[in-house]
Amino acid sequence: MTIHRQEIRSQRETGTQVPAQWPGRGPQAAPPPAQPAARPAPAPSPVPVPLPPRTGHRVLVYKQDPSVTELGARLAFIPTVVLNGPADARVRIELPGVTPVARNVSGDFVFDTGTPEFDCAHTFAVVRQAMAMFERHNGGEPIPFAWNAGGNTDPISVFPHAATGANAFYSRTAQALKFLFFTPEGAPSSSPHSPPFNGAPLDAPVVHTCRSFDIVAHETGHALLDGLKPGWLSAGNPPQTGGLHESFGDLTAIFLALSQPDQADALVALTKGNLHDRSFLADLAEEFGKALGMPAGLRNADNDLKLSEVGNEVHAISQVFTGAVYDVLADVFTFEMTRQLRTKDPALVLIEVASALCGLVFEAIVASPARGARYVDVANEMLRISADRGEPAIYRTFIRNRFAVREITTAVTALDDLMSGQMRMTDAGYTGDGRDVTEVGPFDERSASLRAEQDRSRCCGTLQMPEYELVAPEKLAERGTLEDDDILREDLEALRRAFSK
Ligand SMILES: [Zn+2]
Repeated sequence: MTIHRQEIRSQRETGTQVPAQWPGRGPQAAPPPAQPAARPAPAPSPVPVPLPPRTGHRVLVYKQDPSVTELGARLAFIPTVVLNGPADARVRIELPGVTPVARNVSGDFVFDTGTPEFDCAHTFAVVRQAMAMFERHNGGEPIPFAWNAGGNTDPISVFPHAATGANAFYSRTAQALKFLFFTPEGAPSSSPHSPPFNGAPLDAPVVHTCRSFDIVAHETGHALLDGLKPGWLSAGNPPQTGGLHESFGDLTAIFLALSQPDQADALVALTKGNLHDRSFLADLAEEFGKALGMPAGLRNADNDLKLSEVGNEVHAISQVFTGAVYDVLADVFTFEMTRQLRTKDPALVLIEVASALCGLVFEAIVASPARGARYVDVANEMLRISADRGEPAIYRTFIRNRFAVREITTAVTALDDLMSGQMRMTDAGYTGDGRDVTEVGPFDERSASLRAEQDRSRCCGTLQMPEYELVAPEKLAERGTLEDDDILREDLEALRRAFSK
């Protein structure tokens, strides 16, 4: 800065022209008038501009959903090749009469909100971003869908306006994500002059589940987890395994929001760095929830539920796991924000903390049993991997405490400090009683969440699909395509027996 000022002063003193603009990547400043010189001026040699290895595309997306107006929509950049559709090698959007949606002259998928073209582009972008996030935690390797075995490379088909209904689901048989739309009960009637769109007039308050960042991320989470753990979707598993599927969907939405700098920055400002403050992050599927009379969204990740309070109802059980991971996130963020206060912006700390925890949960799930996985299995893998990473001992204390308070695991570390608000949140080596334990037991082996039948009645559409109830657990646990005949196998075999007589 000092040199720059001196330079300008000396230029003024000597009467030389100060250029209006430094030469750069914008319009070049006019060259100074030619001066008589003893030697000929060297030929101009422009500095080449480095280009990205591939051209990507801009897409307009909702940051949360149409009801979260303080965030609205934003441009997102997809750094991979996307064909008209939008479609690429792994994801293709299907909306009869609308797709393939063509890129604009700039190669981008930017459309007005509320149009079917926007819905196609937005849904594609959120699915793609969720996949990219977990692929980064998978060492940059693609995550197979459950049917991607034996050389099968089929993509997942995504239907933004699949049908009417207040739901969304992932189907392995259909190799698809389906997002439904509905008019909430008691909604004001719309103008009779509006042209119909999907059976509803354009200005009717139709709720499209595809416009919810949380719902699209949640269902993509089901599809990715089914690829990683094909044995987990069967209804024959303990309720906790079903809870892990639902929770993974919700955690996908939370971690995906926190991987986006503008959302992380907005959250830090909104909550003043306290993740337990009410915010758009912990409230999941806001517009959908409000339409069904739940002002805080469909469910809340920042909850206090314990396993003894939820029985065998999988949707509620999932909130216990999500709540524990959310509390660990808030604990680690408080610790790291304090530790790095003088060296890093809090929003950047939040992005890094969330990315590390997302990777930890992802790796722990990959390392957990292929069938019948329990929360304690994932918690123990998180403890082991955290120690292997060399993270501070207090990270494991946070994990042990939060899973113990939820009655998921036994409390190895005394919980007195946590419960009395006396925990030394800034002490990196804090273990409560000095033991950095990486293996804990289940809190209650006789819990209904481990032994009862799964009650999936309040889950999202995915867990209510008949294919995960009727197909044999052994068949579901295999990779490969699943046909409708697999769902009807018992009926078809009975018919064959009857007709062969
Ligand atoms: Zn779900």
